[in-house]
Amino acid sequence: MFGFVNYTFNFIKGLCLHACLYCFMLALDHRFNNVGALRLDEEELRVNLGSDNFIFVGSSTDMWATNVPSEWIVRVLDRCDEFDNRYLFQSKDPARFLEFIDHPVMSKSVLSTTIETNRWYPDVMNKAPHPNDRANAMAAVAAHGVTTMVTVEPAMAFDHDELVAMIRACNPTQVNIGRNTNRQVQLPEPTRAEVQTLIAELKTFTNVVVKDNASAWK
Ligand code: SF4
Repeated sequence: MFGFVNYTFNFIKGLCLHACLYCFMLALDHRFNNVGALRLDEEELRVNLGSDNFIFVGSSTDMWATNVPSEWIVRVLDRCDEFDNRYLFQSKDPARFLEFIDHPVMSKSVLSTTIETNRWYPDVMNKAPHPNDRANAMAAVAAHGVTTMVTVEPAMAFDHDELVAMIRACNPTQVNIGRNTNRQVQLPEPTRAEVQTLIAELKTFTNVVVKDNASAWK
């Protein structure tokens, strides 16, 4: 999902509470019925995570969703902290980061949220928190001095000024821009010109990475 991470681990697995319409895991489950219930994977927790890696923890389900027990999250953070790595944690419910903000692993992590747009699309975002709530929570996370990032993927039709304000509030060191890759789902997308204007403005205060799946928007 991100070119700058060199490993992905999913200590917590299973169907995600948020059920975003475009979710690739949801699509897999619809097709093969093989994602299963939410669970902590004890075997994965025993894997040696090595050193000097940048690891994306939790790419297949949102391990910070409100239905994930706090004890599970602590087990994951404790395990990560045993190794000398950097970690990327990404959530659509970043308010949950605040519950664990004093855990020692947070100081060697990047905390990220997805903000596909400033608008609320209930049929797409389903049980995920409103983008406004995500931005407000990320502002609080950033106020703790933790490194933050924002992912605008899959980018959906937006209002320029409102979206820029939301992203700026997160104080991100980087913004990733990507496009919907789930061909079963049609999303209201911005135009190329709108994305280019957005990128130009974001670049005035942060680093912007346009993912390969959005190269047509460059
Ligand atoms: S938050 Fe992520 S993992 Fe959860 S349903 Fe949405 S896209 Fe899928």
